[in-house]
Amino acid sequence: MTTTWAGGSEYDARIRRAEQLSSRHAFAAEFLDFYKHIAAFQERLRVQVAASSDVRSRGALADALRSPLDLTVLLPHFRGFLSTIEKHAPAALANSAHQMSLLPSDSWISSLEAYWQHGGKYDQQVGAFAQFLARAFLQPNAEFRAALMPRAPIVMTTKVCPLCGARPLLGALRPEGDGGKRFLLCSFCSQEWEFRRILCPTCGEETEGKLPVYVAEQLPHIRVEACDTCKFFIPGVDLTKDGNAIPLVDDLAAIPLTLWAHEHGYSRLQPNLLGT
Ligand SMILES: [Zn+2]
Ligand SMILES: [Zn+2]
Repeated sequence: MTTTWAGGSEYDARIRRAEQLSSRHAFAAEFLDFYKHIAAFQERLRVQVAASSDVRSRGALADALRSPLDLTVLLPHFRGFLSTIEKHAPAALANSAHQMSLLPSDSWISSLEAYWQHGGKYDQQVGAFAQFLARAFLQPNAEFRAALMPRAPIVMTTKVCPLCGARPLLGALRPEGDGGKRFLLCSFCSQEWEFRRILCPTCGEETEGKLPVYVAEQLPHIRVEACDTCKFFIPGVDLTKDGNAIPLVDDLAAIPLTLWAHEHGYSRLQPNLLGT
């Protein structure tokens, strides 16, 4: 498993990558520009989360990634988060943030706690906007805790994150020797774990002929890794082709691929932060 310390510099790198991709790919610019505001907020929140967690409590946090949220730290930032979304999001999502801002804090708490418990595992039924708000707000907290966890032994065929039990968001092919080694990136805590190259992370299909890979001209380093048995796909970011890619961010630009996959009858296992 690779460790990604999602500290300040990590968020800065995501923001810079979003800027690069946005200037190159007009079709994704609106999404990526909005994402930059999210990432900037997340960076500030992560600093707060880290500052409030003293060395003693870190031991307890590391016990279980999804142990209860410390809402005394998080909740005071939720209104500021909703304002950020209201100000910069596309209209429908901005409106949903506004509606949320009118609700009493009890509703905020139940929405955040529900996502914390089920996010990445059983969230297919939750409305996209409701999920977005809790997910974007809690992501820095999940990443912070994941970075504190002792590294689990590598289990190459586990289909869910060994740290938090969530489904993978995407695949990443990282250079290794003459080729690439495949990792899956967690949709909840953003950690990666190693995974076999020819294996469907949804249903376990391992026949190469049933696992087609598609690449779009505009984004040659991103692939649709599909499965003809279960009809699910995950995007795969190929860092052997673009070593500057940051999978979490590059995936947000992969709109043409996602559209293509949907048109061909494949569903995405786990949507990204922006719901594509
Ligand atoms: Zn995870
Ligand atoms: Zn499958």
